[in-house]
This record gives sequence, structure tokens and C-alpha cells, in this order.
Amino acid sequence: MDQSKIMRGVQLILEGIGEDADREGLKETPRRVAEMCGEILEGIEIRPELQPGFSEEISNDVIILKDIPFYSVCEHHLLPFFGRVHLAYIPEHNRVSGFSAITRVIDIFSRRLQIQERLTQQIADTVMASLQPAGVAVVVEAQQLCVSMRGGRKDSVRTVTQAVRGEIPSRIMQLLNGIA
Ligand SMILES: [Zn+2]
Repeated sequence: MDQSKIMRGVQLILEGIGEDADREGLKETPRRVAEMCGEILEGIEIRPELQPGFSEEISNDVIILKDIPFYSVCEHHLLPFFGRVHLAYIPEHNRVSGFSAITRVIDIFSRRLQIQERLTQQIADTVMASLQPAGVAVVVEAQQLCVSMRGGRKDSVRTVTQAVRGEIPSRIMQLLNGIA
């Protein structure tokens, strides 16, 4: 990531807004934003990997992870969107993954300029490709600040996206969507 380029860009935005970029509160802002980008967008430089492990106890049972928090940045407005990821998969041939490895994949895909639909699909595709389960479903519930802060200020709007690969029973989909 090119921190000095980000700093120059933020400086221009401040000037473009009509701010005095040299005033006390803003003097260090370009540097702070550049450092922040290194943290909240670090996922652009990381290739998510999920190494399958094997568990004899789990055969064709469903594994569900609910309420995994995530924070991402909308690529259309550079404003945050954040919320919860719910994920279910049905392992095949006892191929499973540690829970923290899955939450790490979610972190990596979140820490990029994103749209919610793609985030949802990338998580599902990664689980599908690396664990080769019978099925995987991902539901993402989010609040988008570009929806909440702009236009009609629809503060209470939650956006929900889902991606399903392979076979997932409808009772599991209902559970993920909070219907069951
Ligand atoms: Zn947006």
C-alpha cells in the first residue's frame, strides 16, 4: 500500500472540501487516514486460505457459525458497512475447519473495499473451494452508513445478502435468516 499517495489524496480532499488543511485538528489527518487504511484495508494484500482438517466425529452433520461480527468499507462511497455473518456448511468426508480460521477468512475479505454481495459470495466460494463440503450457505446482515447517512437517512435499514453453494436444507436457511 502506498501510504504517501493516500496522504496526498486526503490532503486534496480536505482542500477540495474547502477546509484549512493546516489547522490544528487536520494537520495530522492525512497521516492518520493513511495509517488507518493500512489496518482496515489490509485484506487487499492477503490471500485467504482455509486448510481443511479432519474430524472423525463429524460426518455429514451441519456446522453453523452465527453472529460473526465484521467491519468493511463500501467501495462506492468509502463509508463503512458492518454487521454480522452467519455461515453453515455440511462437511463431506469429515473435512472441517477450525472456527477461528473461518472468522479469519471473513476478516480478510472484509478488510478491503467491498460491496456486501461480493463479500458474501467470496466467503461462500472460499469455504466451498477449500473444504469441498456438500453445501455451504452464508448470510450477511449489515448496516450501510452510505444508506444511513445519506439521502433519506434510513437509519433502521438492514441489508441482507446470501450465497448458497451446493445443497443446504431449507430449515438451515431459515435458521441462518433468523426465521426458525
Ligand atoms: Zn456505499
